[in-house]
Amino acid sequence: MERLLYLATTDESGGLSHASLEALSGACELAAALGDADLIVGLIGAETGAGAEAVGGCGAARFLAVEGEEFGASRYSTDAAAATALVEAAEATVVLAAATSRLNRALPGVAQRVGGGIDTEVTAVAAVDGAPQVQRWYYRQRMVARVGREQRPWFILLSPGVYQAWDGTAASAEVETVTADLPEVRTRVEGLEAAAAGTQAIRPDANLLFVAGAGWTKKQKDGAAHVDRAEALIKGLLDKTSASLGSSKSLVEQSGEGQEVISFMTHMNQVGQTGSTPRHSKGLATCCHGEEPHVVGWRFINERRAINLDDNCGWAHGKADVLYVADAFEVLEELVKLL
Ligand SMILES: Cc1cc2nc3c(=O)[nH]c(=O)nc-3n(C[C@H](O)[C@H](O)[C@H](O)COP(=O)(O)OP(=O)(O)OC[C@H]3O[C@@H](n4cnc5c(N)ncnc54)[C@H](O)[C@@H]3O)c2cc1C
Repeated sequence: MERLLYLATTDESGGLSHASLEALSGACELAAALGDADLIVGLIGAETGAGAEAVGGCGAARFLAVEGEEFGASRYSTDAAAATALVEAAEATVVLAAATSRLNRALPGVAQRVGGGIDTEVTAVAAVDGAPQVQRWYYRQRMVARVGREQRPWFILLSPGVYQAWDGTAASAEVETVTADLPEVRTRVEGLEAAAAGTQAIRPDANLLFVAGAGWTKKQKDGAAHVDRAEALIKGLLDKTSASLGSSKSLVEQSGEGQEVISFMTHMNQVGQTGSTPRHSKGLATCCHGEEPHVVGWRFINERRAINLDDNCGWAHGKADVLYVADAFEVLEELVKLL
C-alpha cells in the first residue's frame, strides 16, 4: 500500500499558495485513483496552522508540520532538513508537491538523502494496475510519456497550472509537530525584494504570462518608435500584476542587431519553438503577431488573449480565445491606471 505525502510550504500568513492548492488536487486525485493509499499532509513554515486548517477537509489521515521561524524563508538547508524529517515521519512512499521555485530547489536533494527518486515538471498523475504513474513531456515538449518507478520514496513535483486549486472545506486538523535536524545555518535571509527586470521577471508561479512582441519597438501611427514609453508601460504592468514576462523571438533578437530595445528583455524571456513553454493559467500577448513558432510555446497557457492592431494577425486565426483589435500602448496605459 502506498503512503502519499503531500508536501507544501506556507506563506507569511501561514496559508498555502495557489500552486500548493493545485498540487493538493493532484495528490487527492492520485490517492483516490490508488484506492487504498493513505494521504498525509506535511507542512513547512514559520506558521502552519492556517494552512493545516485550510486543507483540513481534504481527507488526509495525518497532518504533520515542521514549524518555526527558521522555516519561514526559502533556504535550501532548512527546507531540505524539514522535508527530510517529514518524509521520514510519514514513512512516505510517494511525495507530491507543487513545482514552486522553493520546492524545485530543495526536493531533489531530499530525494537523494532518503535514497529515493524524483520526477520534476510532472503534468498529470494516474494509477495503473494499482501503481502510480506520472505524465511528463520530453524533447522540448514534443513527446509525452507516462512513467512509472519502482524506487521509493518517489518524489513528484507537479507543474503549476495543471490542476484546479483544491477548494474543499476548511476543517480543524490535529497537527503532529515534527522536529527537523538542522545543520549549522550559514545563510541568513534578510528580506525579500521583488525585482522587475531580467530573468527575475520570469515568474513560473505567476497566474499571468505577459508577452511583449516586436511591435512595441516599431514605428507607431505618428511615424516614430516609442521604446521608452513601451518600457515604462510594460514595467508598470509587471509591477502591478507580478506577471511573468515573456517575449517573442523578434523582440529579444533586436539587441543583437543594434536596435533600440526594451532593456530588461533577454533571450531567457523568449517563448516558443526555440524558447520556453511556460505554464500559466492566463496569457496576454501584446504587439506580437502570433506566428506558429511563437504560439507553439503557448500550448500550456489555459486562457489566451492578445492585443494587436491587425485584425488578421495569427491570434485571430483561432490561436487566442479573445483578440482585442486595439493599440496596445493605449490599452496598457488605461490598464495600468485602472490597476
Ligand atoms: C525555426 C524558427 C524558430 C522560431 N522560434 C521562435 C520562438 O521560439 N519564439 C518566437 O517568438 N518566434 C520564433 N520564431 C519567429 C517567428 O516565426 C516570428 O518571426 C516571431 O515570433 C515574430 O515576432 P513578433 O510577433 O513579436 O513580431 P512581428 O511579426 O514584427 O509582429 C509585430 C506585431 O505587432 C503589432 N503591433 C505593432 N504596433 C502595435 C500596437 N501599437 N498595438 C498592438 N499591436 C501592435 C503588429 O500588428 C504585428 O502583428 C521562429 C522562427 C523560425 C523560422
